[in-house]
Amino acid sequence: MKKLPLTLTVLLILIILTISYSMELKKFYQNMYMVRGVDAMPSPENKGFMSNAYGILTKEGWIVIDSLSTPELSKEFLTLLQKEKKAPVKYLIITHYHPDHWYGASTFKEAGAVVIAHKNLNKFYNSPEAKMTLEASNQRFGGIYKNVRLIPADIEIESQKDLKVGQYEISIIPTNPAHTDNDIVIFVKNENILFAGDLVYLNRIPFAGDRGSSVKNWLKVLKDLEKLNPKIILGGHNEPMDKKAIEFTYNYLSYTRDTVKKLKDEGKGLDEIKAYINQSSPCKNYVMYDVFNDANVYKIFNDLDLEDFQ
Ligand SMILES: [Zn+2]
Repeated sequence: MKKLPLTLTVLLILIILTISYSMELKKFYQNMYMVRGVDAMPSPENKGFMSNAYGILTKEGWIVIDSLSTPELSKEFLTLLQKEKKAPVKYLIITHYHPDHWYGASTFKEAGAVVIAHKNLNKFYNSPEAKMTLEASNQRFGGIYKNVRLIPADIEIESQKDLKVGQYEISIIPTNPAHTDNDIVIFVKNENILFAGDLVYLNRIPFAGDRGSSVKNWLKVLKDLEKLNPKIILGGHNEPMDKKAIEFTYNYLSYTRDTVKKLKDEGKGLDEIKAYINQSSPCKNYVMYDVFNDANVYKIFNDLDLEDFQ
């Protein structure tokens, strides 16, 4: 058989690496670990591994933050944590109800974890929409959610809750509405480390198109997060970040909101505004712009209508 030219071989290897996935546990700080999903929409190829999840090893056991997209992925994550240190999972904290953060929760529930999430996640869980969304998403993304079992929170967050787990003092802070109507962030007070869910990004466009989102309030929340002065910020979709990421996210959201508002006040329609922003946005080369920006503009455009009546 003829040997493949070197460039073609390299290309093939690259293609295989991008379509398949491997989950690797990385230590990013003393006693703190993460797995890093790919930057893409969920697909049968990436099996829904397109978000991060975190483990904090305390003297009482693990605290897990976010549960990935499926029970298959969360089992793999739990196995990696137990290989690092065999210890019970005390808590699973879910930053918000999106599938890539919530749908893997059953694994940790079965392992005995107490599940913590915003009160509005339970409200959603108790509505018929929770099941309908799961079924629709399963259809849309090639059946990857077929084994998902939805899990409600055991402890509902409505106002700030402080917990001491082993050597760590943590605050669980509701920040809704921002990315969704059920966002919470987790701040490890004695280490100044912030787990920000999908509220903070670096060089990647956030999704602001959820029907419960509020960009207006998200901008305020980012100012509050800045005041916490975190030394490391862990998000749902980036490598570990620092405070520059808060600024990046703020700049994208405020540029988009201000531009939509200005053009709308001038009487421009949605399609014209989308076209203008897609021409001139300083953010158009960042990851996920093509996937999320139009949806974000649409949501901001409609929210401005509602604000006019407030
Ligand atoms: Zn999200």
